[in-house]
Amino acid sequence: MESVKNCSNGWPCAALPSADLRDRTTLKVGGVVEWLVEPKSPEELVAAVKFAREAGLAVRVLGGGANLLIASETLSGCVISTDNLNRTFRPTDLEEGNELSGSDAPLSRVAPAPVSDDPRLVLWAGARLQGLVRTAYQLGLRGAELLSGVPGHVGGALAMNAGSRAWGFWDQVERVWLLDPLSGEVMERAREECSPTYRDGHLDGTIALACVLRFETDNKTLLKNEAAEYLRAKSAAQPVTKKSAGCIWKNPDPEQSNGRGAGKLVDDLGLTGLKVGDAMVSTQHGNFVLNNGAATGAEVLELIEEVERRVQSETGIQLLREVRQWGGANGESPVLEPA
Ligand SMILES: Cc1cc2nc3c(=O)[nH]c(=O)nc-3n(C[C@H](O)[C@H](O)[C@H](O)COP(=O)(O)OP(=O)(O)OC[C@H]3O[C@@H](n4cnc5c(N)ncnc54)[C@H](O)[C@@H]3O)c2cc1C
Repeated sequence: MESVKNCSNGWPCAALPSADLRDRTTLKVGGVVEWLVEPKSPEELVAAVKFAREAGLAVRVLGGGANLLIASETLSGCVISTDNLNRTFRPTDLEEGNELSGSDAPLSRVAPAPVSDDPRLVLWAGARLQGLVRTAYQLGLRGAELLSGVPGHVGGALAMNAGSRAWGFWDQVERVWLLDPLSGEVMERAREECSPTYRDGHLDGTIALACVLRFETDNKTLLKNEAAEYLRAKSAAQPVTKKSAGCIWKNPDPEQSNGRGAGKLVDDLGLTGLKVGDAMVSTQHGNFVLNNGAATGAEVLELIEEVERRVQSETGIQLLREVRQWGGANGESPVLEPA
């Protein structure tokens, strides 16, 4: 993976021109972006977006690239990565004098907790989900163990409302800090002011900078064992060591699908093992598309569309995508459009 060290062309943080994003995604498919930008604090991220806005560049945000299909060979504008925003704090770390409590800091309004057993964590957008799982069980905090084995960053988990069928990341959120890329305003939002749904945090074009998560307290060993058990079950059911973008489709309405998840529907129609080039529907789990070698974004997209067509024609069910797509037909819009 290319490291981002340059501070070129006036960017207020590290920025690399013509960066290949392939190795920044778990599917290992991706194009070359005009600028890859790596802020190392929420403040630098805010400044980088301001710079991009004034330069008229499109802005996209990249976390761990674990639910992302980059379908085109080139992307214009910039991709802001949260790779260097990998920080987790206890609320007590935010008392007066701490570097986060300066008046300009977007996190300055996290109330310092008077007690050290406060069951909350403060996480920047680039905090790793597996780091969160470990930190939580080490501190005896219940609520993150269901993320065991789920790759990605906290910002991506907020955007996707990552989780399982019955639980989503937002169930633990107390509040978030969101940047409006159009106005440059940083907004603090309580959980009740947000509207996440199944596998969608509904960030509505904003960029997640940080959040406070609230947990229940529980026995550390019990939590560690539960996390290990989730990981074991996940590894048995899903191709976690292969190159994929996680689940491609959301599970359909159980009434429509007789309770079958998207993967089971694909499996029942005999579509596992279906290939386009080096892209293949996993034989272990029908909701995963694998890159078996040198698959291109276009091949992965063609395979996804073919599966959707067959499921639609044979069951009448229109599968909806969970995976986010950049570039290619119907790819998602940048959070900031080019001027
Ligand atoms: C093997 C495997 C297993 C998985 N298992 C699960 C699972 O059990 N449950 C589950 O829910 N998911 C699962 N996933 C999918 C993935 O791990 C989650 O969706 C995760 O939350 C993605 O986070 P990310 O940081 O990688 O996001 P990315 O893939 O980088 O981005 C996804 C979307 O979020 C946006 N985004 C990223 N960061 C921000 C930000 N700071 N602000 C605003 N928008 C942002 C991106 O622009 C993009 O639209 C799995 C993936 C893999 C590869």
